[in-house]
Amino acid sequence: MQRQSSASSDTHKNSLLDIKRECTFCQMEHIAPMVMKETPNLRLVADHAPVVEGHLLIIPKQHYTCYGDAPASLDAELFDLKQEVRRFFELNYTEPVYWEHGIFHQTVYHAHLHCFPIGPLIYDLEQHEHGQRIHGQEDIRAWHQEKGHYFYLEDGHYGYLFPPQAEDYSFIIKNELGPAVAAHSSYKQWRLSQERQVDGKPLIASAMGRWKEFEHTEQADAQSSSQ
Ligand SMILES: [Zn+2]
Ligand SMILES: [Zn+2]
Repeated sequence: MQRQSSASSDTHKNSLLDIKRECTFCQMEHIAPMVMKETPNLRLVADHAPVVEGHLLIIPKQHYTCYGDAPASLDAELFDLKQEVRRFFELNYTEPVYWEHGIFHQTVYHAHLHCFPIGPLIYDLEQHEHGQRIHGQEDIRAWHQEKGHYFYLEDGHYGYLFPPQAEDYSFIIKNELGPAVAAHSSYKQWRLSQERQVDGKPLIASAMGRWKEFEHTEQADAQSSSQ
């Protein structure tokens, strides 16, 4: 009896522990080989099934279900890391597009921002009337608190939040992400994760090699400007 009552009082704590134990992004051994950079609270990681070369993820070290669930204390660090990814992309590929499924279409239930070098992509809110333009992470947190799930697209200018509806999601994949990916890879169709994992190995190796060079350049620039 005593066992049971203590178990129930710990239910919340235990369930979070279970989630972390099963979460791919909480288990370092899954992502360690793909980690490109660490900041105090974030990791920049190569996606294991890239849709194009340079497909990266920004993942908080702590377990949050989505960026709408992450605290404001991460905002500046996230902004800086996104800027660094932008410089890396623009030197090696093209402009970035950022994408978050939210909880709605996630396969791993741990916040992660996809960074795709597939820009320029300018989403026309006037024309499509899907989504809501936002001005920062604060708006994502507010949406998450008020309305719950969402998904997120950031083009060359703005971020947009969308309601977690299948029609909106397929609309964005079909009309925005799909064409942009096709324009930047030899694959013209959206491929399954398994296919992308197999085809992706050389893409990951190449992106990680380019990142090393990029880091050297950034360090050299920082040194010469501080002299
Ligand atoms: Zn996790
Ligand atoms: Zn994802």
